[in-house]
Amino acid sequence: MSTYIFGHTSPDSDSIIGAMALAYLKNQLGEDCIPTCQGEISVETQFILDKFDGVAPELKTSVAGESVYLVDFSDKAQAPKDIMEATILGIVDHHKLGDLTTDTPLECWIRPIGCSNTIIKEMFDYYGVEIPKNLAGMMMCAILSDTVIFKSPTCTKVDTKIVKELAEICGIEDYKALAMEMFIAKSAVDGASARNLNTRDYKEFEMNGSKVGINQLEMVDISVLDDRKDELLADMKAMKDENGLHTVIVLLTDIMKEGSTLLTVSDDDSKIEKAFDIKLENSQVWLDGVLSRKKQIIPFIQPQFK
Ligand code: MG
Ligand code: MG
Ligand code: MG
Repeated sequence: MSTYIFGHTSPDSDSIIGAMALAYLKNQLGEDCIPTCQGEISVETQFILDKFDGVAPELKTSVAGESVYLVDFSDKAQAPKDIMEATILGIVDHHKLGDLTTDTPLECWIRPIGCSNTIIKEMFDYYGVEIPKNLAGMMMCAILSDTVIFKSPTCTKVDTKIVKELAEICGIEDYKALAMEMFIAKSAVDGASARNLNTRDYKEFEMNGSKVGINQLEMVDISVLDDRKDELLADMKAMKDENGLHTVIVLLTDIMKEGSTLLTVSDDDSKIEKAFDIKLENSQVWLDGVLSRKKQIIPFIQPQFK
């Protein structure tokens, strides 16, 4: 019986490429593993797959009775609904520890570094398995995405070192130029609906009984959305009502200006204002220097729900 390997809902490049890379490694080690994903491939991930002749993993949203490895998450809210009926063999992740538990012992590779693919590269090295050229290129791009080309506060020396090693394997010298091309591709918003924009990199978190949904758009210039903020906020209100959420946040992250406009619709705005010691104006605020949801947003919001 095959084991399935997948990342979080609304999969980003780390989730997709991470599942592919870990499945390749596990297969080399003699385990029969299939990479899958829980949702549509993003524009950014498609850019990476096209660049390196990658094949997108198949969609799989139900895992009852299966054995699985999780990549890039350990929160129940980001897993298939029937995850508790699966056997979790292992987790490879770089986020806060989520609320998933297991009945059996498991393999865990969790480290506070920039990207799950960095950890997977270390696993290849640990087991002495060679990384194929194209896979190395895709893993490199996933790390450059997650670390926002090394600008994110989540980025560590390990991430930059491993990007250089992967760049060598895939034979790409100017990897920063490639990363910039990738971010320009993912910044395209023309013709996209408000719901599409609000769910491109959307994650839900359970915070002491309240559901909080946080989306992040990483763009080279967020000003192209200036005249669509009311539309985004109206759709966030609809998302909040549809899913019984306490708070919906959308981060418009400007990777050149290195900061984010936070938009929010909440049952209690004061929680957000206290979290960041700010005053919301028209349901929004600019947070200078904020690039990382996992490191600069969630750790400040979660305590407000304790
Ligand atoms: Mg991710
Ligand atoms: Mg990641
Ligand atoms: Mg990301």
